[in-house]
Amino acid sequence: MLSLTDVSVSYDGVPAVRHVDLDLPDGQVLAVLGPSGCGKSTLLRSVAGLEPLAGGRIAFDGEPVDHLPTHKRGFALMFQDGQLFGHLTVARNVGYALRLRRRPSADRVRELLALVGLEGYDDRLPATLSGGERQRVALARALAVEPRLLLLDEPLSALDASLRERLALDLREILRAAGTTALMVTHDHEEAFTVADRLAVMRAGEVVQAGPIGEVWAAPVDEPTALFLGYARVLAGVPAQRLLAAAGLPPASSVALRRSALVAGDGPLAGTVVSARATPETLRLVVAVEGLGELDAVAPLGSHAAPGEPVRLHVDPTRVATIT
Ligand code: ADP
Ligand code: MG
Repeated sequence: MLSLTDVSVSYDGVPAVRHVDLDLPDGQVLAVLGPSGCGKSTLLRSVAGLEPLAGGRIAFDGEPVDHLPTHKRGFALMFQDGQLFGHLTVARNVGYALRLRRRPSADRVRELLALVGLEGYDDRLPATLSGGERQRVALARALAVEPRLLLLDEPLSALDASLRERLALDLREILRAAGTTALMVTHDHEEAFTVADRLAVMRAGEVVQAGPIGEVWAAPVDEPTALFLGYARVLAGVPAQRLLAAAGLPPASSVALRRSALVAGDGPLAGTVVSARATPETLRLVVAVEGLGELDAVAPLGSHAAPGEPVRLHVDPTRVATIT
């Protein structure tokens, strides 16, 4: 288990990471999620031993690692751009760390290439690979020596959106299959939700919320966190109480809504359609709801909803979160 206790990192006296406490149990994947510049890479680099701590402690399985240089920590790193050796074949890239340790590599390289779905790519050079294939090779290389912790810095950010989605699923499967304990930092909530078991939300150098991903999703700590997690709107005050009552949920100070939290039908909320737009899966509505303002809602495909028409809505309680 990786444990960070009160970890702070500064650049020239300016704090970039402040008083971070985090635990990562073995075999789990923790995503650190936050906007650009919030200190994610700095935190990851401090765990790797690439940035000195201004304060606090980092331990693995109860043993402090702060004093150990990077290569003695037993951690592996993978970056956004993979950083493959361009003059080495795929097989030699993947086997690089094994050769350094004078371990036999041929069978292990074949096993790793199969794990990341690149059988038969042994003799290819990085320049002949797609972005996604290059990241798979980088992942296989990072996993070669079975690190006790894998550190991933925005591993999918350099890829285009559709590939990113697919590779995020693959990354999850590969890490599960290898039983790898991993700490991944990302600014992309979809990526975090796809890959990780646990989530730490970071803002301005601090971890503002951490826990199992479902728990964080079900109860974001505040409005900026809810919006960063991918909720579309946050209501407070009387509108929040009305919506919670309509959803049959207990009162809370605010409520976060997914874009599809309100569903047209026979529900307790009355509104007027402002606009309607068909997508392949559903009819997307903007509805002016009495006492709540204009909100997004969905209607089943094929239903009729023209601007100006009255509509009744119900709340899908699985698509709202309370903020206490
Ligand atoms: P993120 O990875 O979340 O985008 P970083 O950890 O890279 O954020 O940066 C956090 C803060 O630390 C930013 O304000 C950034 O400008 C600053 N910073 C990062 N690296 C250095 C550095 N080598 N020297 C000085 N400041 C840095
Ligand atoms: Mg970064």
